[in-house]
Amino acid sequence: RVAYVNGRYVPHSQAAVHIEDRGYQFADGVYEVCEILKGQIVDLTAHLDRLDRSLDELSIRHPMTRVAFVTVMKEVVARNRVRDGLLYIQVTRGVARRDHVFPGPEVAPSVIMSAKSVSIEKGLKAAEKGMSVITTPENRWDRVDIKTVGLLPNVLAKQKAKEAGAKEAWFVDKDGYVTEGGSTNAWIVLNDGKLVTRPADHGILRGITRSVVMKLAEKHGISVEERAFTVEESKSAREAFVTSASLVVMPVVKIDDQVIGDGTPGPVAIELRKTFHEAAELIKLT
Ligand code: PLP
Repeated sequence: RVAYVNGRYVPHSQAAVHIEDRGYQFADGVYEVCEILKGQIVDLTAHLDRLDRSLDELSIRHPMTRVAFVTVMKEVVARNRVRDGLLYIQVTRGVARRDHVFPGPEVAPSVIMSAKSVSIEKGLKAAEKGMSVITTPENRWDRVDIKTVGLLPNVLAKQKAKEAGAKEAWFVDKDGYVTEGGSTNAWIVLNDGKLVTRPADHGILRGITRSVVMKLAEKHGISVEERAFTVEESKSAREAFVTSASLVVMPVVKIDDQVIGDGTPGPVAIELRKTFHEAAELIKLT
């Protein structure tokens, strides 16, 4: 495997940044994860737009032009011979002597990219089974709309899920409303067939998959209510699912100890998963 590190393609096993990289010391950096499908980058434009926004929100200099970004992205996917998988991009404020305040303009941002293959069959099998989620109190900062590498609460929440035999943890705010998953956006399907997902304010990450599912739902004549829902409401929903670039649309069949529907993936989630890429932007590598 090969990774891109600050202008060079290096063997993955030797891909490293300095110990004083601000991403390492302060989580002072942002990232993106793009799905690669049949040799195409899924929703490339939306991911780069969100990366630009994350950088702007943190006043991190844009490390290179968009054209250069896309060139490197394609190169990393190609060099790793990834046909189906994930592309990871990370930009940090750079390497500087440890000091909380920003370094001067002479410090260039660090950029790394890597790509890995992920089996489509595995994803399909998981989706046929659906997954369990647990709920956990929201304990993140109030700007989780910025896709920063500061993911410790997400790490702890997902570990807690794993230890409970579940795949994801849904954060729940102090009023009992679900915000989102540790690495996914959360959705429910009401008894009348409507989809509900939390509005994309500062309390959730505005998922690219979420936006595409909203477009797709419209295409299928399914209405979407963008509003917060409580854990209680989710437990009596007809269906539940999560969305992310890595899971696409993944049915949820259990929330805490409550089985959702008949405990198998619901038809709406299955259909959205099946047709997802009709509504996505697919950019060929060559
Ligand atoms: N919410 C969080 C906290 C995430 O980390 C992610 C993806 O990693 C998402 C939502 C889903 O976003 P996307 O659909 O852009 O992958």
